[in-house]
Amino acid sequence: MPAPFDRPTTHHLPALRHLTVTAVTRITPVFARVTLTGPDLDAFPTTGPDDHVKVFFPHPETGDITVPSPRLPGADLETPRAEVLARDYTPRAFRPATEARPATADHPATEACPAELYLDILLHGTGVASTWAASARPGDRLVVGGPRVSKALPADTGSVLLLGDESALPAIARWLEQLPEGTPITALLEVTDARARSYFPDELRMRADILWLLGEHGAGQLLAALRGLGPLDAHTFVFGAGEAAALVPLRQHLRKDLALPAAQVALNGYWKTDA
Ligand SMILES: Cc1cc2nc3c(=O)[nH]c(=O)nc-3n(C[C@H](O)[C@H](O)[C@H](O)COP(=O)(O)OP(=O)(O)OC[C@H]3O[C@@H](n4cnc5c(N)ncnc54)[C@H](O)[C@@H]3O)c2cc1C
Repeated sequence: MPAPFDRPTTHHLPALRHLTVTAVTRITPVFARVTLTGPDLDAFPTTGPDDHVKVFFPHPETGDITVPSPRLPGADLETPRAEVLARDYTPRAFRPATEARPATADHPATEACPAELYLDILLHGTGVASTWAASARPGDRLVVGGPRVSKALPADTGSVLLLGDESALPAIARWLEQLPEGTPITALLEVTDARARSYFPDELRMRADILWLLGEHGAGQLLAALRGLGPLDAHTFVFGAGEAAALVPLRQHLRKDLALPAAQVALNGYWKTDA
């Protein structure tokens, strides 16, 4: 019998995949969906709702992608290495390769399709990843490391509360897809750009009771909305992600004021403001 909220963890073999962009779609004016493919993509493992990959971006001037490499014994320590430009992203979806199939009485013909990985990158302004995604086009290259682990859905969960800002929307979409039909789901989502609210397709939007909060990150309205929910019952699992400092009072409320055990709450800092 698994403990409440137990999340069995699968460890994956380390892998660096050299991938090519085949499409870039503005799924909302502030999100670029990047489709990646490549020979290294077969058997890409991603089963947990909050899996993440390390994405290595090209240097804006040279176009070279540098990945970390161990220093060889005797290597000159003074020799500067090219900068590694890496950021974390949620694999929004993975579609395995399909073979061509002729039409049958039951199915129309299908064409062969290579495996595809989809990343949804927020266009928040200037930053290695955001700037790259704003002008990415088919033929561009990225290197993707991981995921190293996948954590399964929590066991013995009655309902789920999802909290976050724009950076959490891809992970939250995966939670909405993976949670069993009929699970009561509440989502409190804070976005600075109202256009981010069209991120979820209708079938996902309908899975949850979603409260959209419009404003600056860290303004405290997410905390006020969380407090407004009152006490959470002992079977509600909480997942949240967003700006690291903005999560501190949320964590405090959940763990100290409401005294929820650590296993019931997973809050993850996804980015940091410079302030
Ligand atoms: C496990 C994990 C999964 C993640 N999944 C996703 C995902 O699927 N999609 C996604 O878009 N992001 C995701 N993020 C967040 C993303 O990694 C960060 O936002 C990252 O800092 C963006 O890199 P950048 O090069 O664009 O900006 P940086 O070079 O890191 O920062 C440049 C400037 O932009 C600001 N900034 C950075 N991120 C944001 C933001 N989200 N909103 C507003 N300002 C910002 C910084 O404060 C800084 O001032 C994830 C993070 C983690 C840890």
